[in-house]
Amino acid sequence: MEQPDSGGQIKCRYCRKIWPPEHFRTARGKPSTHCRACLDAKREETRLRRERMGPAGVRAANLWDKYRITVEQYDALRAAQQYRCGICGTHEDDITVILTGRPRLDGTPTARAVRLVVDHCHNSRRVRGLLCNNCNTMIGLSSEDPAILRAGAAYLEASMLQ
Ligand SMILES: [Zn+2]
Ligand SMILES: [Zn+2]
Repeated sequence: MEQPDSGGQIKCRYCRKIWPPEHFRTARGKPSTHCRACLDAKREETRLRRERMGPAGVRAANLWDKYRITVEQYDALRAAQQYRCGICGTHEDDITVILTGRPRLDGTPTARAVRLVVDHCHNSRRVRGLLCNNCNTMIGLSSEDPAILRAGAAYLEASMLQ
């Protein structure tokens, strides 16, 4: 986004058109470098791409983009873990399916959450395994620090002895 000119108008760096400043906000009200028209165009492009790929294609693309694994590799991991969470052991059939993500503004339904989510190291990007949502959240909240998780376990165990 460029500096407002004397009239307070801003030139969009993508479409080069001049708009009032309030056009440089997303539909959720966040500041944006794209003008409203460019955001709408981008959203429509994404919607069309999702439509062309279909749910299976979107899922494959997500796995690849986020974790660099294929659907086949994901399924191989599931099988290797006997379809269970790598920490608590909950079977994927016993995991409640929740809808992930915010509702999409373009009206397409949000992706159905997979039951076992891919857990990866945030530094190396290496995939560690598959976890249920709760355990994945726990790992994230511990800042991926085994010492914190051990200290938490020790704390709980000490309280049980009392
Ligand atoms: Zn624009
Ligand atoms: Zn779990």
